[in-house]
Amino acid sequence: AAKQRNDGAVVYDAAMDKSSEKSLSLLTELRNAIERNEFRLHVQPKIMLDTGKVVGMESLVRWVHPERGNVFPDEFIPFAEQTGFIRVLTRWVMEKSAELCHELAAKGYPLKVSVNLSTRDLLDQDLPAKFAETLARHKLAPSSFCLEITESAIMDDPVRAQNTLERLSAMGVDLSIDDFGTGYSSLAYLKRLPVNELKIDKSFVLNMENDVGDTKIVRSTIDLGHNMGLRVVAEGIESEAVWRLLAELGCDQGQGYFMSRPIPGDQLIAWLEKWQA
Ligand code: C2E
Ligand code: CA
Ligand code: CA
Ligand code: CA
Repeated sequence: AAKQRNDGAVVYDAAMDKSSEKSLSLLTELRNAIERNEFRLHVQPKIMLDTGKVVGMESLVRWVHPERGNVFPDEFIPFAEQTGFIRVLTRWVMEKSAELCHELAAKGYPLKVSVNLSTRDLLDQDLPAKFAETLARHKLAPSSFCLEITESAIMDDPVRAQNTLERLSAMGVDLSIDDFGTGYSSLAYLKRLPVNELKIDKSFVLNMENDVGDTKIVRSTIDLGHNMGLRVVAEGIESEAVWRLLAELGCDQGQGYFMSRPIPGDQLIAWLEKWQA
């Protein structure tokens, strides 16, 4: 690859060439993965912490690679964001989530589905219209969707992000701030953005029954969310003790391995039947 030096001279950088070759092949693989049907929609149930009722699910994508097997999102989402492939992937996730949501409602399980958005999605001016089209095609009310965004995704270009989010919110979809508490300026965004939900990051939840500091942060976040009129959700509930503690603190909803790991979308009905029994 040709690289410009500070003095303006152009040098050849073999190391960069290798890594860009690798990136190129990963990008090709990601593009092929759509056609080859290698992505899978997994969902994790969202549960009312006072009653145990299932009220929603979060869509989490999986990549079943022909040679490498299960590739987890942390290994390819950041790359998909850098290259812009995430827009294609987000549309795929939205489409599959809408299909599943429609099917569940028809079978008597009207669950709200949460989809993760990334920085690039928030800068995509066509996203609200494309999303509206998906909802209409599946005859779904906008309120059957919740879109999860992280603070870092908003920070990248706050003005454009806010514009996209306001358009989405005006359509009637729910917005959630994901990984709350891990960013830099949560509070400013909370005040300005049309959000409905706060998701407490799992790093504060996982071990909270043994950590007074975590418990204090979680308690304050729940109170803050409620004072702002928001629904508060905790992720990373791995034990009954943590569920009980969160319920005592007044947290509205929760997700975690204690209730269910993310499971293939087509296994959710069987899981729901067992959960209710
Ligand atoms: P996230 O949105 O914060 O999702 C929560 C992550 O926590 C998921 O990891 C989930 O499997 C995991 N988790 C849930 N309950 C527990 C628990 O009790 N204990 C522990 N230790 N972990 C739990 P996953 O599925 O590997 O996803 C990782 C991240 O990748 C997500 O974090 C999200 O940022 C991103 N991601 C996943 N799917 C998508 C997608 O479709 N689009 C976008 N843009 N990002 C996605
Ligand atoms: Ca999320
Ligand atoms: Ca999260
Ligand atoms: Ca996360």
